[in-house]
Amino acid sequence: MFRRASLILHQHFLQKKNFTVCGLYLNKAAMSKQIHARRIEGIDKNVWVEFTQLVVEHKVNVNLGQGFPDFSPPEFAKEYFKDALFESGGMLNQYTRAFGHPLLVKVLAQFFSKLFGQDLDANLNILVTVGAYQALFCTFQALIDEGDEVIVIEPFFDCYEPMVKMAGGTPVFIPLRLKSLKEGVPLSSGDWMLDPEELAAKFTAKTKAIVINSPNNPLGKVYKKQELEMIAELCIKNNVLCFSDEVYEWLVYDGTEHIRIASLPGMWDRTISIGSAGKTFSATGWKVGWAFGPDHLLRHLRTVHQNSLYHCPTVAQEAVAQSFQKEFERFSEPESYFVQLPQQLSLKRDQLVRCLTAVGMKPIVPEGGYFLIADISGVKVDLPEPSDRDEPYDFRFVKWMIKNKGFATIPVSAFYSSQNKKHFSHFIRFCFAKKDDTLIAAEKILQSWNLTN
Ligand code: PMP
Repeated sequence: MFRRASLILHQHFLQKKNFTVCGLYLNKAAMSKQIHARRIEGIDKNVWVEFTQLVVEHKVNVNLGQGFPDFSPPEFAKEYFKDALFESGGMLNQYTRAFGHPLLVKVLAQFFSKLFGQDLDANLNILVTVGAYQALFCTFQALIDEGDEVIVIEPFFDCYEPMVKMAGGTPVFIPLRLKSLKEGVPLSSGDWMLDPEELAAKFTAKTKAIVINSPNNPLGKVYKKQELEMIAELCIKNNVLCFSDEVYEWLVYDGTEHIRIASLPGMWDRTISIGSAGKTFSATGWKVGWAFGPDHLLRHLRTVHQNSLYHCPTVAQEAVAQSFQKEFERFSEPESYFVQLPQQLSLKRDQLVRCLTAVGMKPIVPEGGYFLIADISGVKVDLPEPSDRDEPYDFRFVKWMIKNKGFATIPVSAFYSSQNKKHFSHFIRFCFAKKDDTLIAAEKILQSWNLTN
């Protein structure tokens, strides 16, 4: 018995050795060839990977960096999730319809038909995805081709640039510009605007799409009707598609209205609108997202989806469907989560704005979303000499904050193209979708740190 076991081990060792030798040979051969696919060239750096690692390495007491709530999703949503595990004799633990769980697409169609001013077909106008990230990925892969140009408005959610490039396209950037301000009036995200002439000049014969994100991450800008009409007019005139990332659609403050660009005349047929249950129900770990659009566009997203992810988790989709059903029945009423969450978040936003202003930073008050950015030009810190001369100031500042103050945020130049980073490297981003205790802890650190001396 023992001899037989050692013989098997010996054979395994020999096989392994051969494999290793063979592996070395293969590696040598491979070295003479291009190893990585060219479409991922230059996109290996990622702000989330870098800063999440730093947070793990250092003793961080307060993390207002990455955008997720540190509070629980609503009780009703968690109950639906629990129930879904046992529903239908446990069958919701198995695959469901590949392009979206039947109950979820039905409820989404019912819920959003009025908001888009379209009679949505649950099976043809909605694709459920693994978070809004996958909806974006399917959109770029399906609709952007080699040589296409895609207009991206800065600051932008950082994955747009690599996603355009992986699809073979070229991003064309245009920054929002800060309009001149009155002395003493606090800055608002609404003060950052597109220059219509500058935008019009970005459209060329190669332009295939423009990406807009409203409410915007990281700035919190919520595009006004007039601004969206200006973009829509250019899209129609130049026969260009619009990819509209609306993951923070329910999070608008101070009576600001979220307008869906796809609901404007002539835009439904050329727009993909993207949403996320992660942001909608404060459950980012469920990773349920979706894309809405006309069938002639969405059918191509389905092709990418069926050849990559194919199915999304069933239990999470069922819980999101039930949660939307509940919200549908109490739409706009005071007890609706879509009414209550923005009310709670706007108080948190105000608390952080007050605190940052008191310590000498200049926050830009967001009209929507999870985040606010603050100008750190007036903050005096003795940063060490940069090891990398090209590293933007805000990157060095945030690294210093994490290491010396145990406080994590995100540098805003990460949301700019390499050509425009240098002009926007004195802002940092704070996520205020956090428990009151977390925000109080943040306030204590800021107050004890004399920022202007
Ligand atoms: N778009 C924007 C603007 C985001 O901020 C995020 C998440 N931070 C996503 C898309 C991705 O959302 P999800 O977690 O649903 O994939």
